[in-house]
Amino acid sequence: MSRSTVHAIALQDLRPGRTGAVPRGTPGERLHDRLGRPLRDLRISVTDRCNFRCGYCMPKEVFGKDYPYLPHAALLSFEEISRLARLFLAQGVRKIRLTGGEPLLRKDLERLVAQLAALRTPEGLPADLTLTTNGSLLARKARALRDAGLRRVTVSLDGLDDAVFRRMNDADFPVAEVLRGIDAALAAGLGPVKVNMVVKRGTNEQEILPMARHFRGTGVVLRFIEYMDVGATNGWRLDEVLPSAELIARLRAELPLVPLQAAQPGETAQRWGHAQAGVHDPALGEIGVISSVTQAFCHDCNRARLSTEGRLFLCLFASQGHDLRALLRGGAADEDIAAAIAGIWQGRSDRYSELRATQAPDTANAARRVEMSYIGG
Ligand code: SAM
Ligand code: SF4
Ligand code: SF4
Repeated sequence: MSRSTVHAIALQDLRPGRTGAVPRGTPGERLHDRLGRPLRDLRISVTDRCNFRCGYCMPKEVFGKDYPYLPHAALLSFEEISRLARLFLAQGVRKIRLTGGEPLLRKDLERLVAQLAALRTPEGLPADLTLTTNGSLLARKARALRDAGLRRVTVSLDGLDDAVFRRMNDADFPVAEVLRGIDAALAAGLGPVKVNMVVKRGTNEQEILPMARHFRGTGVVLRFIEYMDVGATNGWRLDEVLPSAELIARLRAELPLVPLQAAQPGETAQRWGHAQAGVHDPALGEIGVISSVTQAFCHDCNRARLSTEGRLFLCLFASQGHDLRALLRGGAADEDIAAAIAGIWQGRSDRYSELRATQAPDTANAARRVEMSYIGG
């Protein structure tokens, strides 16, 4: 499905004087959805374009040169994004992650980072502002991002072997340049840097151990992600998923690891510490596994996603988004947009991964799902 067929859920007309039936959140009150989950984490996609063609995300056959990317006028401007982010912070969001597509392709991104870094929560604190990138432009941009107020970065890297990595990104991009980006992020103070590795059985599983060894003791937190059935174009197959339990067993056969407590509620990764004599050694660091397929974590999912063109998605696997751009561009007042956000979150009951574990796949819905490059990972 092309992005242009994605459906938007129409919101009520919220222009001044027409706001009657929209549920309102009381300022400062914590919002909860229908399953009791708070709104904490906002992921903002700043572009639907990317310079990589990872087969699990933007396969070349679909995202070719004729793919209908969004025109620039359709994208939320930095001012529109900042305004929404301010309203989300007032509704309980404490963490903002910029993503995409490849966020560092968006021109002058530092300007947006500076605007977001200046925002405050109702308690007067800045948001935990972070960014996920493929690392290709990070060596050039890390310092400016840090100076603009970015706190941390997560870099995606699917292997250390250059040939494997070039095959995974399908853009013939060398691994050395991403490693340079990670070093630049560490040098700029964008730590702790996290590295995300999507593991596909039969494609890059041989990279698991070299990656764990490489980042042990460097301060970088490596996280292994199960290959997900997100979007409608990656040809996902269950037999290409390498379950985290199997991955941990393989690692523990070679490296001493002990389980660690979750750092905070709603954390997606299960943490394992590198150990010496059976005890976690903080100097050696930790790894994480994100088991989106084999161990769903919907029960405390506190993430909302804002698409490149301003649609609010409540789940990575949703096929419909709520059109906030129409409110922004239709002249709605802050309190009306805040009320719309509150109403949308309070109506949320999504828990796709939990249902996937117990139900036959809904193939009709799978064909309509939005792409991860559009709503952001
Ligand atoms: N381009 C940036 C990057 O790659 O880091 C940010 C956007 S990307 C969509 C965000 C994250 O989603 C990346 O870490 C990527 O590896 C992950 N991702 C994309 N498709 C995935 C899939 N099918 N299964 C698991 N993770 C996936
Ligand atoms: Fe691009 Fe990131 Fe998707 Fe890879 S995972 S194609 S780098 S958006
Ligand atoms: Fe959250 Fe949806 Fe993922 Fe469940 S499937 S953890 S609700 S994004």
